[in-house]
Amino acid sequence: EPELAGDFAELMSWADKHRRMKVRTNAETPADCRMARQFGAEGIGLCRTEHMFFDAGRISAVRQMILAEDEAGRRAALEKLLPEQRADFHAIFEVMSGLPVTIRLLDPPLHEFLPQGDAEFAELSEAIGIGAETLKRRADELHEMNPMLGHRGCRLGITFPEIYEMQARAIFEAACDVAEASGDAPVPEVMIPLVATRRELQILRALVDKVALQVFAEKGRTLEYMVGTMIELPRAALMAGEIAEEALFFSFGTNDLTQTTLGVSRDDAARFLSPYVEKGIYPRDPFVTLDIEGVGQLVRMGAERGRATRPDLKLGICGEHGGDPASIAFCEATGLDYVSASPFRVPIARLAAAQAALG
Ligand code: PEP
Ligand code: MG
Repeated sequence: EPELAGDFAELMSWADKHRRMKVRTNAETPADCRMARQFGAEGIGLCRTEHMFFDAGRISAVRQMILAEDEAGRRAALEKLLPEQRADFHAIFEVMSGLPVTIRLLDPPLHEFLPQGDAEFAELSEAIGIGAETLKRRADELHEMNPMLGHRGCRLGITFPEIYEMQARAIFEAACDVAEASGDAPVPEVMIPLVATRRELQILRALVDKVALQVFAEKGRTLEYMVGTMIELPRAALMAGEIAEEALFFSFGTNDLTQTTLGVSRDDAARFLSPYVEKGIYPRDPFVTLDIEGVGQLVRMGAERGRATRPDLKLGICGEHGGDPASIAFCEATGLDYVSASPFRVPIARLAAAQAALG
């Protein structure tokens, strides 16, 4: 098990005395959460929920949910998924023992969930009792030319509210159960991805609040929680003043914000960006170190406009830049409350946050 010891532990404790920003982690398995805590993470800044759905035992219910022709079909599939999703969050809340946990509702490019090829369609057809031809027709209807610019994030939550409802129920049921058992009450922060407009967040926040009230009534207890949003589209940064009316926190998703601001695909950039960097056209790889002059302006604008509406708006960053020292210095200067980095980058983030606070 990795652990910080000796001089390194000493250096870290020195850094912790000087830094202002909190350091959280991006993690979605109990093992990663545990490791990140050993590295000093003070909470989870981004728990992505997509991977939970790819689990071998769940993927057929997930596909059933996506390809069902009506709400009843989707609800039947979601009922199968709820217990395992609740167990996912239960385990994470336990490991994090009362530290903040930001759970992001589902944000997959939809095509990753669709069956591929005749064999997978046949298998799914067998498993859920819907003809393979019907399933294929439905998959064709959902096909997208540009899935990363398509039916993902909160758009999915608007089209299929039952999915976010199931996830919110799993979060609040697990949080209540852990609070009951341990006394370390979790404070879930429910995060909505890919928001562009205030209306999207208003609709989905109402849905989360409704489920929270239902679960609290069923469990005979209440818990503190927050609903907030990713800021990962230029429009969201521009309209942050309005969006902050519906959000208690913002987390800057600088992976997507870099992709959408530069118009460069985050998945293909590595192939053609290196000559750009070698020739100095870009001073650094913008997916590694925040493009401070460009994308950074949107982050600063989002932070300022959000806080103008809601002075105590909690602000963080959960893109890859949250573990990059130069980007962390920018986050300090912008007044963010925390950075969130992958577990192995937590120590570096603690150091960089201290250096930025002293500099
Ligand atoms: C982001 O876009 O910066 C982000 C953290 O979300 P994801 O990488 O999951 O799209
Ligand atoms: Mg994103």
